[in-house]
Amino acid sequence: SSPNPQSSSLGSGQNVLPSKAPGARMNATFVTLARNSDVWEISRSIRQVEDRFNHAYNYDWVFLNDAEFDDTFKKVTTSLTSGRARYGKIASEHWGFPDFIDQEKAKKVREDMHERKIIYGDSVSYRHMCRYESGFFFRHELMQEYEWYWRVEPSIELFCDIAYDPFVFMADKKKKYSFVLSLYEYVETIPTLWDSVKGFMAKHPEHIVSDNSMGFLSDDGGISYNHCHFWSNFEIGNLNWLRSQAYIDYFDHLDRDGGFFYERWGDAPVHSIAAGLMLKKEEIHFFNDIAYYHVPFTHCPTGEQTRLDLKCHCNPKDNFDWNGYSCTKRYFEVNKMSLPEGYEKEQ
Ligand code: GDP
Ligand code: MN
Repeated sequence: SSPNPQSSSLGSGQNVLPSKAPGARMNATFVTLARNSDVWEISRSIRQVEDRFNHAYNYDWVFLNDAEFDDTFKKVTTSLTSGRARYGKIASEHWGFPDFIDQEKAKKVREDMHERKIIYGDSVSYRHMCRYESGFFFRHELMQEYEWYWRVEPSIELFCDIAYDPFVFMADKKKKYSFVLSLYEYVETIPTLWDSVKGFMAKHPEHIVSDNSMGFLSDDGGISYNHCHFWSNFEIGNLNWLRSQAYIDYFDHLDRDGGFFYERWGDAPVHSIAAGLMLKKEEIHFFNDIAYYHVPFTHCPTGEQTRLDLKCHCNPKDNFDWNGYSCTKRYFEVNKMSLPEGYEKEQ
């Protein structure tokens, strides 16, 4: 029989992913925090994650909620996931005001932020969500058995096939945290976050690693925060790191300072600063080849061949990475990495 001339080239209609990927699986899970009302939006996300990756890997999916999941949520998401779908209710100690928070003061802050039209500034539940993602999701009993997590939010999109197992990649390359989009945080939501971080650094110098990413977080050697952070609605990371004494001491210190309620600290800057100071810089990975959208930003891989090989359907013009509001270039500089081929065409 004559050889098929296209058989060795991708981008010719062949699938990058086999129906079942060979090899071992990592001790890993997807994790989603959601309300029952998020069912249809999380369904869109699950469908894309399954189509672009997980149908060949069948990793578990843990769903967490501060309320009980209803039957519709469970039925629909179970039908869409190829691995085990598991549902957990969040303990009330992990979702609510800690006793050291002054409720009156917190309420005044919300009213003030409402006046100033700060996004989610008047919301109590958003604050509980940010605090939960910052300090508790990795301690949920369903999460205890896993070493790796991949966070998925409602309404995201994946634009390219994922042609290898990112969990295996993370483990093999000794990565602990990863991102696809980075940007500057709204300063109004975190005015004293860096003061709290400095307090932590002074109290626990043993947790700060020498070969860290301070240059990503600060332009003046740590005196002030430049507001750069990795966008945490996408994360692939190591749960043992989050469960480490270093991270727990960090979270407890920030929590005590009260900014989850007296300001509106987001889990993105909280995770990012932790990764930036307590991980070696080479332990943080940028996944150029995972194409992603969460309103309003897109990460579309730089490099045309990558996009063709992975059957991407994003418009490279929408890629946020080389835009002035992205911090990704700074990440490349801090890590002395050369920018991916073709980046200048996307500026
Ligand atoms: P945004 O991306 O910052 O605009 O915030 P989202 O509305 O996407 O919320 C972030 C994540 O937390 C999503 O996975 C939501 O489904 C989830 N979430 C937000 N608020 C709540 C809540 O009150 N309860 C629960 N169970 N999940 C929530
Ligand atoms: Mn979201």
